[in-house]
Amino acid sequence: MAVFKPENVEDFYEIGEVLGSGHFGQVRQVRERTSGVFWAGKFLKIRKIACSRLGVERSSVEREVEILQSVQHPNIVTLKDVFESRSEVVLILELVSGGELFDFIAEKENLLESEAIEFMKQILEGLRFMHGSNVAHFDLKPENIMLSDKVSSNPNIKLIDFGLAHRFHQGEEYKSTSGTPQYIAPEVINCEPLSTAADMWSIGVITYILLSGLSPFQGETDEETLRNVLATKYEFDERYFSMASSMAKDFIQKLLERNPNERMTAEECLLHPWIKMSYNMVWMCNRLVNLRLLNKGRTDPDPLQRQCESDAEDTDSKPASLLRRRLSSSS
Ligand code: ATP
Repeated sequence: MAVFKPENVEDFYEIGEVLGSGHFGQVRQVRERTSGVFWAGKFLKIRKIACSRLGVERSSVEREVEILQSVQHPNIVTLKDVFESRSEVVLILELVSGGELFDFIAEKENLLESEAIEFMKQILEGLRFMHGSNVAHFDLKPENIMLSDKVSSNPNIKLIDFGLAHRFHQGEEYKSTSGTPQYIAPEVINCEPLSTAADMWSIGVITYILLSGLSPFQGETDEETLRNVLATKYEFDERYFSMASSMAKDFIQKLLERNPNERMTAEECLLHPWIKMSYNMVWMCNRLVNLRLLNKGRTDPDPLQRQCESDAEDTDSKPASLLRRRLSSSS
């Protein structure tokens, strides 16, 4: 069991600016007094009375801490320490200073499909590890996917917020209806037994958003969104997907699959041609297209060359200006 230190967190850390907030408290930048190193402090108000809706149950925080301690991976935020006072628990986390993935994309204005693949690859690496440890996140959404820093051109992905995460024990049947309407799987809405496959549905939604800037199931209200999810009602509108490759659409389709048993796993996603062959394909296609430009006299390119020309166009750009962030969120 994790040790919740009874000392005052302020004796060890200076409390700084607010980095973000959630349902049960704030996340603030904190500075370790001895080393001067910056961390993120997640301050959670603990529920005092069992039937109260204020604050989070201590047992939920214990679960979040236990899971964070057990899923140590380069693409998952690290937990350093835990402090507890009468009314609050403070998680000292690795400071993830690059902001949210979608802010990064919005600022870039022009995201190449190959860049999207690079981000997805890292998200999937983190998930494969987590799912291999029988842990499901159950709250994957753009706000919970952060970038390690703002300076490098290839920042690392860090998955955060394990507040709804669950570790499956053998033979256990687990149900929960928590999550964010736009990202939750149909089986969550239907209160069916859950598995790590629910996370893979959210990955399908996130990939769709990454490539088009649109949310596939978003309705005018949460009820309408949930109805759209249950009907698995979505389409690849040509206005927003004209630049997306057929491999990308196939990847999404194999995740937005109503039956959780038929959805791709994180392991399978990492083997999907869209993820696996991206760089080689883009490089090879660019070479072939360049060769064809040099060889203008030829009127009948071979089939591989023709396929590559269309895929090379496909991987070049997306309408990032259409990105919509902070889509409604509730548990
Ligand atoms: P919710 O109620 O939405 O589930 P929460 O209370 O569980 O939220 P988090 O989602 O963990 O809190 O964090 C809230 C926000 O704080 C995040 O969206 C992010 O912007 C910021 N944040 C969280 N952890 C970190 C971190 N380690 N480094 C930097 N910023 C962070």
